[in-house]
Amino acid sequence: MLTKPKGTYDVLPADSRIWAKLEQVIRKICALANYEEIRTPIFEQYETFHRDDSDSSDMVNKETYDFIDRGERKMTLRPEGTAGCVRAYVENKLYVNNKVTKLFYFGPMFRYERQQKGRYRQFSQFGLEAYGPKSPLLDVDIISTACMLLKAVGLNKIRVRINTLGDKESRQNYRDVLVDYFSQHIDELCEDCHTRLAKNPLRILDCKVDKDNPVLINAPKINDYLNDVSKEHFAKVLAELDNLGIDYVVDEHLVRGLDYYSDTVFEIEYESDVLGNQNVLCAGGRYNDLVKDLGGPEIPGVGLAFGVDRLILALANENIQIVKPKYLHAFLITLGQSAKEFGLKLIYNMRLAGLMCDMSYASDSLKAQFKEADNNNSMFTLILGEDELANKTINVKNNHTKEQVTISLDELLGYLIKNLNTCHNCGGNCHEKSTN
Ligand code: ATP
Ligand code: MG
Repeated sequence: MLTKPKGTYDVLPADSRIWAKLEQVIRKICALANYEEIRTPIFEQYETFHRDDSDSSDMVNKETYDFIDRGERKMTLRPEGTAGCVRAYVENKLYVNNKVTKLFYFGPMFRYERQQKGRYRQFSQFGLEAYGPKSPLLDVDIISTACMLLKAVGLNKIRVRINTLGDKESRQNYRDVLVDYFSQHIDELCEDCHTRLAKNPLRILDCKVDKDNPVLINAPKINDYLNDVSKEHFAKVLAELDNLGIDYVVDEHLVRGLDYYSDTVFEIEYESDVLGNQNVLCAGGRYNDLVKDLGGPEIPGVGLAFGVDRLILALANENIQIVKPKYLHAFLITLGQSAKEFGLKLIYNMRLAGLMCDMSYASDSLKAQFKEADNNNSMFTLILGEDELANKTINVKNNHTKEQVTISLDELLGYLIKNLNTCHNCGGNCHEKSTN
C-alpha cells in the first residue's frame, strides 16, 4: 500500500473545513489591514534561498529540498515565503509606484526536519510582508495585524516576545563583544554553538540546548551596544504597541533563526506545553537589506510568518470551534428508479437556486436513506416516491421542528427558502440562514 511521505499529513474533509474557515478569516483580516495577496511559485531557483555561504541558519543549510530539474537547473522547494516575495517584488518592480507595498501569502512550505507534533516536512504558512520606509509604525502594523488574527479566532493564551538586533553598526559592535565573551567560554557551549560562534554568534543566544546555561544567561546584552538610531527605532515600536494596548515582553535572547533580520524581531507563542518546542505560532522581524541583496533598490522590509498547522493545533487544544457543524439545506431520499432519476434534476435545480443539497444515490432502503440524511445534518429531508411523482408532489420533513408536509413540486423551492429561517428549536441560529 502506498503511504504519505514522512513528515506530511492528509487534511481530511472535517479538518479541511477548519483550514478553509481560517483562510477566510485571514483574508478578512488582511483586507482590514490592507495587505494584498501574492502567489509566488512553490519552487524557486536554488540561489533565491541559498544566497551566500555565510548564512548559518539550519533552514538554509540543512533543511531545504533541493533538486536538479530535467533541464539541469538547480531548484529549491520554498522553505519559507519571504525570499520568494522579495524576489517577485524586485522582479516585477512593485516598488515603482508605491511608497509602501503590503502583501500577504498563504501556502505550503517544505523543510527536511524531524517530524514532531507541530513540525512537519510540508507545512503551511500565512505571512505578511511590508516594503517601504524604515518606519517603526510599519513594524507595529505587522505585529498588530497578527494580534488581530489571534483575537478574531479567539486564541487568548498567547505571548508576544520582542527584541531588537539593532542596525548594522550596532550589530557589529555587539557581535565583536559576543565573540570575545563566548570565546572565553567555548568549552561550556554545545557543538552547534561552536559553529555559530564562527558564523553568527548572535544565534548562540537562542540555542535550545544551552538555553539554561549560565554562560548564555550572563552574556552581554544587545541593549548596551545599540546606537542612538537603533535605540530610538525600538523605543518607538514599544511605545506604539503600548499605545495600541498590545501586551508584549522584551526578550533579550530572542534573535530568530534566519540571518537576514535586523532591528525588530518578534515571536508570538502559544502559552501551553502541549506543543513543546513547537509553541511558536508566528515569527518575524525587520530585514533592511534583503530587497537590495536580491537585486532590488535599497528598500527595507518587515514581515512575519504564521505556522498555520500550529495555529490549528492550538485552536483544537483550546477547544475553539471556528466552524459550525457541516450541514445541508436539504437531502432527497427516493423510492424507485424513476423517482431517483427525476430527483437528480430536482436537486440540480435547487443547487442552481443556491441551496446546498444532495440525495441518496445508492441505497434503496428507506431506513438507510434517512440515516444518510441524518449524517449529512440536513435541515430538510425530502421524500419522493412513485405516488408523489405521479401527483407531482413531494413530502418535506423539517428535521428541527419535525413537521412534515406534502406540497406540490412547483412550490418546493419557495417553501424551502421561506422556511430555512424558521427553526423552532433554536430560533434559526442552528444553521446559517441560506447561502444566498
Ligand atoms: P522553529 O524554531 O520552530 O524551527 P523557525 O524559526 O524555523 O521555527 P520560521 O522560519 O520563523 O520558523 O517560520 C515561521 C513559523 O512557521 C514558525 O514560527 C512556525 O510556526 C512555522 N514553522 C516553521 N517550521 C515549521 C515546520 N517544520 N512545521 C510546522 N510549522 C513550522
Ligand atoms: Mg526551524
